[in-house]
Amino acid sequence: MVSQEGAEGYDCWKLALKIHELSEAGSREFESSKLLASVLRNHGFDVVEKFMGIPTAFRAKKVVGNGKPSIAFLAEYDALPGIGHACGHNLIASSAVFSAIRASEKVENGTIEVIGTPDEEGSGEWAGSKIIMADGGAFRNVDLVLGSHPGDQWNVGTQSLAVQDIEVTFRGRAAHEAASPDSGRSALDAAVLAYTAVNMLRQHVRRDVNFVMHGIIKEGGTASNVTPERAVITYGIRSTDLEYHGKLVERFLKIVEGCAMATETELSVKKLGPLFSTTKLNRALSNAVREKLLRMGVECPPTEETFKEMPKGSTDFANVTQVVPALEVGFKIAAEGTPWHSRESLEAAKSATAKDALLTVIEALSDTAKEFAENRDLRKRIADDFKDDARYK
Ligand SMILES: [Zn+2]
Repeated sequence: MVSQEGAEGYDCWKLALKIHELSEAGSREFESSKLLASVLRNHGFDVVEKFMGIPTAFRAKKVVGNGKPSIAFLAEYDALPGIGHACGHNLIASSAVFSAIRASEKVENGTIEVIGTPDEEGSGEWAGSKIIMADGGAFRNVDLVLGSHPGDQWNVGTQSLAVQDIEVTFRGRAAHEAASPDSGRSALDAAVLAYTAVNMLRQHVRRDVNFVMHGIIKEGGTASNVTPERAVITYGIRSTDLEYHGKLVERFLKIVEGCAMATETELSVKKLGPLFSTTKLNRALSNAVREKLLRMGVECPPTEETFKEMPKGSTDFANVTQVVPALEVGFKIAAEGTPWHSRESLEAAKSATAKDALLTVIEALSDTAKEFAENRDLRKRIADDFKDDARYK
């Protein structure tokens, strides 16, 4: 247990190491969220725990001066089941908490917040909690959202893939495969047909939308002499075009329905988790953060360059960027090419390089918050880019 007193004396590095050690998987980050909330309370923040009914979420707030504008830092603190903090979310947590603390010292006016957003990795009940928050209006009164994510490079915003995970269950009819095969209807046949048929979709889609589709046959029968009466496939369907992504999901569903019809089986479809959006990039915001990083001697590639990079994954942070100007800064804690979610990244998340990078990120983000609070022109440029959607320009 973390007591209020126990939270005293935590600096950003001690906090990052403690979260690394706690190593709590998504939706079960009870001690981690309690510790982060306690550190913020000790620095004068008002904390609401179990924010939006999510057991390990919280929202911490500190009003400075007239309280405007409102700037929120997003914390993640879920570890990967089995391996631990191999995605470095311990650093994200510490960066959010201490960027907010520093920002509250730097601004003359503003409401500085930290929102604790559990289960980014999607390993529990509250998977993709930022999506629940974005859809539930958590960012309605927020003017700017800042976050960070460690990796093998510095960057000020990259595109991400929209993704929807889908599970399809086929139900056939069991029968003796030798004595009465004619009365059996194979759910496995439907699954295999579907696996083959959805592959044919790949050729007939737009080439500019980064279409990615990955699937498995999760269940396919229990004994070879019994017609499989139940088979399950799961797929992830991804794209960088949110609108077109919806059409791809529709086409996928049409295909699996056709396979059920062809094999005289029945199907049920379940969407696994919410739709992860694409990222709405914001050039003015990215440039503002990059300028701070360059000043601190970080070799951060030009904004345009990373905007154009091929997106590698999906994140629930993307859904936040759709409702409020938001940026997740990528910071380098390991050599380029280091595999992520690995033993190497687990070590990197508590390395001396990570410590230096963390300190830099905290200064850059809190400086950005200060500039946002003070510079009306920057706020206008960020708002204009948000309206325009800087993605493809
Ligand atoms: Zn991560």
